[in-house]
Amino acid sequence: MKLCTFTHDGKTRTGIVVGETVVETDVPGTMLDLIREWDALKPRLEAKGATGQAIPLAHVKLEAPVPRPGKIFAIGLNYADHIAESGLGTPERQVWFTKAQTSVNAPFDPVLIARGTATPDYEAELVAVIGKGGKHIDAADAPAAIFGYCVGNDFTERMWQHAGPQWSLGKSFDTHAPMGPWIVTADEIGDPHDLAIRCYVNGEERQNSNTRHLVFDIWQQVEHLSVGMTMEPGDCLFTGTPGGIGAAMDPRQFLKPGDVVRTEIDGLGHIEATMVAEG
Ligand code: ZN
Repeated sequence: MKLCTFTHDGKTRTGIVVGETVVETDVPGTMLDLIREWDALKPRLEAKGATGQAIPLAHVKLEAPVPRPGKIFAIGLNYADHIAESGLGTPERQVWFTKAQTSVNAPFDPVLIARGTATPDYEAELVAVIGKGGKHIDAADAPAAIFGYCVGNDFTERMWQHAGPQWSLGKSFDTHAPMGPWIVTADEIGDPHDLAIRCYVNGEERQNSNTRHLVFDIWQQVEHLSVGMTMEPGDCLFTGTPGGIGAAMDPRQFLKPGDVVRTEIDGLGHIEATMVAEG
């Protein structure tokens, strides 16, 4: 099933995406509430998707599927070609940083170039959305902990990323975590480690890879994070970016106002952002 958060007639709610339409779920609350109650809701929502009143997608505004996740974690250096272009060695242990809740952005909204900064960059990423979650989750049990997947872009202010030993500030600028266009539930995806992922800037292909090239796969990621931290419904994991970032190009290419960044993953859809200078 495809589940979205959308705004229509001034109201924001959750919906089931069916073809080119969306059907309101009637679940009170946000996507977090829907994910928490998923086992009980699933049969009813499957039926509702087939029979409910359908609104054309073109008439709604899609929001980030989880507008305010409890946690957003992102793994660095997790595709071999990206590690090579970064001039670093393959990490023996997973390298994680956080992105602020306030960096979440709707899938087709502009991404801001913050005042006084000039090194914004893109990172196409598969995002795993936690379902049941839990603590001390073995890799073998991790598939059952995940609710679904969506497209994300780990937008990064490069100068701020490397201004100190921690990357989180440069990863947490407002609008720098666009996600969407909806969550595809895990049962519909099957193996998330065989999905083509691409990123384009103004139509020019910059990244083109496949999630089969992850250094640490998503099950290992869930095991690692849940050693000491409870993974909760709706937590979002950015699972790494492949090679081709602007900072690694020769000469380096950072994003400019008006640039259009399109991120797509087979089976999940695409998101697209126009870069806008902060007023
Ligand atoms: Zn990243």
